[in-house]
Amino acid sequence: MSTVPFVRNEIGEIPSDVTSEGCWHKRFLFSKCCFAIGDYERAIEVLELRRGVLPKSDYDAIRLAAESYIAAYAEARSELERHIAEHGC
Ligand SMILES: [Zn+2]
Repeated sequence: MSTVPFVRNEIGEIPSDVTSEGCWHKRFLFSKCCFAIGDYERAIEVLELRRGVLPKSDYDAIRLAAESYIAAYAEARSELERHIAEHGC
């Protein structure tokens, strides 16, 4: 089966109530989440498209990169949630 470590469904949703009306810090954290998820999705796309074609070392390197992007996402997301809780914005 798939060796891709995560699927989209396991990521969960980025809080959808973040709009351009939010405070700058909230918007900053939100865009950090979006960038991380974008990097992650591009890496996963490469893995899925090139599976069986990429040399194993390349595949593993991209998979590791994907894991670091999803970790960055998780961190940004918890920062965002903490900010919203503390700041009430
Ligand atoms: Zn705020």
